[in-house]
Amino acid sequence: MLKETNLRMTRQRRVILEELRKMDGHPTADKIYAVVRKRLPKISLGTVYRNLEVLSVLGEIQKLELSGSQKRFDCISDFHYHIRCTCCDRVDDAPMGPLKDFENRINGETSFKVLGHRIEFVGLCPDCRENPTSPGLKKFIPPNHLHVEK
Ligand SMILES: [Zn+2]
Ligand SMILES: [Zn+2]
Repeated sequence: MLKETNLRMTRQRRVILEELRKMDGHPTADKIYAVVRKRLPKISLGTVYRNLEVLSVLGEIQKLELSGSQKRFDCISDFHYHIRCTCCDRVDDAPMGPLKDFENRINGETSFKVLGHRIEFVGLCPDCRENPTSPGLKKFIPPNHLHVEK
């Protein structure tokens, strides 16, 4: 992959970055593609996707792999937590700084060397709270640690 991608800032990458910075929230590659192709009509979804991967390797953006959701891209590259609506998949930044000694707490407690951690808050966004009958609620998949009535 690295040979093909050539880790430089190309015009395509610059356009993708500019558009991502203008977009709200944490869009998927599909959404970014829809916007970027207005400026670069010949670009393909695959190319947008590859460029997003490279931008995240370059540290310009962050790739988010949240549970049960398509990959999202974040123009804020600094480490931060997210909160995801389990109903419509909206993703917002969580207003909380990184838990620094969190990793130290389990370092040495397992045979693993801890390299990092992921925390994802889940909940219902304001729109989904207001509309409990919204069709999105049908695909609500509760996380394991929540009690589920069968
Ligand atoms: Zn929602
Ligand atoms: Zn974010």
